Amino acid sequence: MGDLSELESRCQQLGLRVTANLRDILEALVTGPDHPDADSLHGWLRSRGRRVSLTTVYRTLGRLVAGGFVIAHHFGSGKARYEIAATHDHLIDISTGKIIEFSDPRLDALEERIAAQMGYRIVRRRVELYAVPTE
Ligand SMILES: [Zn+2]
Repeated sequence: MGDLSELESRCQQLGLRVTANLRDILEALVTGPDHPDADSLHGWLRSRGRRVSLTTVYRTLGRLVAGGFVIAHHFGSGKARYEIAATHDHLIDISTGKIIEFSDPRLDALEERIAAQMGYRIVRRRVELYAVPTE
């Protein structure tokens, strides 16, 4: 995941201006609620005394998403859920809404092979498994 200052310098490299709001939102994404939507991220910041508006949270998240630094997930709840861009995949337990992260190099290799067979190279990928517990 990397520490906050490392994330900030990566943001700068992507041409994002590192404002106090952006720094707060990065911190919330790293140490706050898991896969938060904008509301819960905003609530987390407010509960820590940060005076940031929901509009600013949305705008800053939009900049981070546009810069490819943050991913907006749509796990079927209707609300976008955010996280720092990472290489893991997600299994969503549809009975509880729980989000479980996983990664498997065999799956990555399979996808690369499928794309290559069709004459493509993968530049971005997203795997979401919607599941119920087996017992
Ligand atoms: Zn995740």
